[in-house]
Amino acid sequence: MSAPARVVIVGASIGGLTVAESLRDEGFEGEITLLGDEPHLPYTRPPLSKQILAGEWQPEQAAIRTAAELDELGILVRTGQRATGLDVETRTLHTADGPIPYDELVIATGTQPRQHPALPEASTLRTMDDALRLRERLDAARRVAVIGSGILGSEIASAARKRDAEVLLVGRSGALGFGGVGTLLSEELVRLHEAHGVELALRTELTGAELAAAGPAGTAGAPDAVALEFADGTTRTVDLVVTMIGGTPRTDWLASSTLDLADGIACDRLGIAAPGVSAVGDVAAWLDPITGRHRRVEHQSNAIEQAIAVAGRLAHGAEGAQPVPLFWSEIHGTRIHAYGWFGPERPLAELPKTAESAGTVYGSHDGVGELRGVVGWNAPPRDFRTARAAVVTTAHPLVAHS
Ligand SMILES: Cc1cc2nc3c(=O)[nH]c(=O)nc-3n(C[C@H](O)[C@H](O)[C@H](O)COP(=O)(O)OP(=O)(O)OC[C@H]3O[C@@H](n4cnc5c(N)ncnc54)[C@H](O)[C@@H]3O)c2cc1C
Repeated sequence: MSAPARVVIVGASIGGLTVAESLRDEGFEGEITLLGDEPHLPYTRPPLSKQILAGEWQPEQAAIRTAAELDELGILVRTGQRATGLDVETRTLHTADGPIPYDELVIATGTQPRQHPALPEASTLRTMDDALRLRERLDAARRVAVIGSGILGSEIASAARKRDAEVLLVGRSGALGFGGVGTLLSEELVRLHEAHGVELALRTELTGAELAAAGPAGTAGAPDAVALEFADGTTRTVDLVVTMIGGTPRTDWLASSTLDLADGIACDRLGIAAPGVSAVGDVAAWLDPITGRHRRVEHQSNAIEQAIAVAGRLAHGAEGAQPVPLFWSEIHGTRIHAYGWFGPERPLAELPKTAESAGTVYGSHDGVGELRGVVGWNAPPRDFRTARAAVVTTAHPLVAHS
């Protein structure tokens, strides 16, 4: 296979940037254009709900590369530019500033937060600009409601407590979720939130919201009071509502293309969506060869590993291995890492710890007793690395990945 002359990448974040950098690492000498609709150079999102919201970091600390570094790598970055359409047949990307021809296109457009039907204008968090706005609002708010019982809902509740706000965390299901681990860590997370003063309202749903009182006119940053109504008939007045109820893949601009967009961009097991088109990261649904189903994974390390695999394939036809899910979080100062595959039918069991270890490592075993996933709960890095190394990552017909 000969390398393409022009690679165009849509989405200038961790997935798109890693494709560009890895192409250069692989010795690719052709043209690389990295196009993104945000006004910023690529930055990493995990700090947004942690260090940035907590006020511990300034935006530049989340930046991945400087303009000079990108220039040195020969990557042409076009920020503030939106892709608007794709013609797979003629290999043309349409943008708000005109068409761009390509030999190979990589799509890494991520997801956008789903809006809550009862409160579509509520604050949410995906971008640096969202985080800076939310940080300002948190400064002024005394009572915060976070709607959404997933990992990001937990992180925002934690950041709001760090800023001394009263926090109500609301979830529709009866349990707290943690990314690919599902709800297997729910009891531990409930205990953690309660120990840090977060009030939990699980198994309830936001049904309406009404402005209860406008903030004092002319007072900069003074929040409005919002009365929230819940499905169980209760109401609650808060100064700030943040909704974190999941994301939808950013594929709207591809609606008229021939790509399969059932849930994200359907790709084969190598990340190929159509001739000359690959997709990586949160927007991409790669075929899982074990289950035979397409699956999207919304974790940073997955975007990085898929990007490295696609770059290797484009540069010289290398077929990378399927990434093993790896992700982490920090909630109320507790570091939680997860690696591997988990399913509701495979509960977590504590693994033996080293004598000096203060943390805990949990394992998830499949039906034939093989270790398929591990979770480190404040575990020292060495313990988690040892547990990770024991995870069986080869396919097994009895394992249904969640
Ligand atoms: C607040 C927050 C905290 C997180 N914390 C963690 C964590 O602790 N651990 C972890 O593993 N993962 C975490 N994640 C998830 C992780 O950030 C994502 O998995 C990762 O960013 C995915 O990278 P991506 O490049 O696929 O997509 P994104 O990072 O979403 O980037 C997509 C880019 O494409 C741009 N774009 C979209 N459409 C267009 C278009 N039509 N034209 C041009 N540009 C376009 C978008 O504006 C965006 O800049 C977090 C995510 C968020 C939002």
